[in-house]
Amino acid sequence: MTNETATGQIIIVGAGECGGRAAVALRERGWKGKITIVGEETLPPYERPQLSKGFLTKKDETSTFGNADSTKFGPLEIKHLVNVKVESLDRAAHSLSLADGRHLFYDRLLLATGASARRPSIPGSELALCLRTRADADRIKARLSPEKKVIIIGGGLIGLELAASATLLGCRATLIERNDKVLSRCAPISIAGIVEARHRAEGVRFIFGTGVKSIEDRTDGLLVSTTTGSTLVADVVIAGIGAVPNVALAKAAGLAIENGISTNEFLQTSDPDIYAAGDCASTIHPLLAGVRLRLESWRSALEQGERAARNILGEDVRQGTLPWFWSDQFELCLQVVGLPQTAATTIERWLSPDALLNFHLGGEGRLVAASAVGLLNLIAKDIRVAEMLIVQSARPDPRLLAEPGYRLKTLLAA
Ligand code: FAD
Ligand code: NAP
Repeated sequence: MTNETATGQIIIVGAGECGGRAAVALRERGWKGKITIVGEETLPPYERPQLSKGFLTKKDETSTFGNADSTKFGPLEIKHLVNVKVESLDRAAHSLSLADGRHLFYDRLLLATGASARRPSIPGSELALCLRTRADADRIKARLSPEKKVIIIGGGLIGLELAASATLLGCRATLIERNDKVLSRCAPISIAGIVEARHRAEGVRFIFGTGVKSIEDRTDGLLVSTTTGSTLVADVVIAGIGAVPNVALAKAAGLAIENGISTNEFLQTSDPDIYAAGDCASTIHPLLAGVRLRLESWRSALEQGERAARNILGEDVRQGTLPWFWSDQFELCLQVVGLPQTAATTIERWLSPDALLNFHLGGEGRLVAASAVGLLNLIAKDIRVAEMLIVQSARPDPRLLAEPGYRLKTLLAA
C-alpha cells in the first residue's frame, strides 16, 4: 500500500454535498497543492433532496440527479477516493487510516462526514427501510408499486415527502407519528395543518400519538404493532425518524463534540488544523446572536463547505447564511428561513386557503424568521425578501405584513 507524504495536502473526509463543494472551492480560491476527498459511498457527491422526491416518482432519474461540483473534480485535479471509509484519525501524526490499509497525511483536514438515518430501536427494526443514500433510495424505489401498503414511521420531512411520493406512485400510505401533529420540529402549527390536510385529501392516513413497538415478518406481510395496542399489516415499512451526526471519527480522535463536531464561527474544531462543516458540525451562528446550531439542510451544507474551504486558506470568513430549507410534497412547497421557534409572535398572511406566509417577530418586533407553504411561485419571492429583511434586522409594521396586497419589497427600500 502506498503512503502519501505531507507536501501541502488538504484532505476532506466525506464526499457529500458539503465535502464536494469544499473541494472545488479550495481550487476556486487559489489552492495549488494537493486536494484529496475520501468518501465511503461509491458515487461522486450527489443531490440527496431528490432521493425522497423526483428520484422516486420519475422514471428518468438521471435528469434529476447529480451535483455540478463533482463534474469538476477531474479538470481541477481533485483526487477522489471512492468506496473507502476513513477508520481513524491520528492528530499528532496528521494522518488518517483508511479501511483498505492506506494511510494519508494532511496539512489541513476538513471533516464533512454528514449524518446517518436514525434507526428505530425496536424488535424487528431491521425490517424497516431507511432513507439517506442513493442505495437506500434504490431499495425503496424497487418496493413502491401501485396498491402496496406502505407504513411510514415519523411525521417529519422525510416521512411526509415519502408519503407524498408513495401516494403519487399509487401506494396506500399510512404515517405513524408519536406527536399529535406532523412537522413538530421544523414548521409552525398552521403550516403543519395545511400540509396534513393536503396529504389527507390524497388518501394518506395518519395515526398520531402512537409509537411503533415491534415489526414482525409474517406470511401476509409485515406486522407492525403500535404502542397503543393496535396492529397493522404492510408490504413496506420505512422509518423517517431523524438523522444522527457522524461524529465517531472526530470523537475517537479527542475533538470536542457538542451535538455534532463542535466548531467556532470559522468552522474550526478544537484542533486548529481540523475544520468541520455540514450536517456533522455544530457551529456558532454569527447571524443568530452567537447561538450554537447544527443544521441539516442542503443550502447550509454547501455554504459551510465553501466557508470552511476559504477559512482553511486563511480568509477568516465568519458570516454564514441564515438557516433555510424547503420541502416539496405533492404540488405544495414549504420554505422556512430563520428559526421560527425563537420568535415571540407570528403574523399570518393568507394568500389563498392553502397558501400561507408567516412572519415571525422577536421581542422587539424584529423579523427573525419567515415560513410559508403554497405553490412555489406564490411563496418563493416573499421568502427571499423576508430573508433580506431578517439580515437587515428590520422591524416591519405587523399590519402591513398581514396584508396580502402589500408588496413586501417596499419594506426593503424603507
Ligand atoms: P452528507 O450528505 O450526509 O454526506 C456525508 C458523506 O460523508 C456521506 O457520503 C458519507 O458516506 C461520508 N462519510 C461519513 N463518514 C465517513 C468516513 N469515516 N469515511 C469516508 N466517508 C465518510 N435539505 C433541504 O434543505 N431540502 C430538502 O428538500 C432536503 N431533502 C433531503 C432528502 C433526503 C432523502 C435527505 C437524506 C436529505 C435531504 N436534505 C434536504 C438534507 C441535505 O441533503 C443534507 O443536509 C446534506 O446532504 C448534508 O450534506 P453533508 O455533505 O453535510 O452530509
Ligand atoms: P425529522 O424532521 O427530525 O423528523 C423525525 C420525526 O420522527 C419527528 O417527528 C420525530 O419526533 C420522530 N421520531 C424521532 N425518533 C423517533 C422514534 N424513535 N420513534 C418514532 N418517531 C420518532 O427527521 P427526518 O424527517 O427523518 O429527516 C432526516 C434528515 O433528512 C434530516 O437531516 C432532515 O433535515 C433531512 N431531510 C430534509 C428534508 C428537507 O429539508 N426538505 C427532507 C427530507 C429529509 P420528535 O420530534 O418528537 O423527536
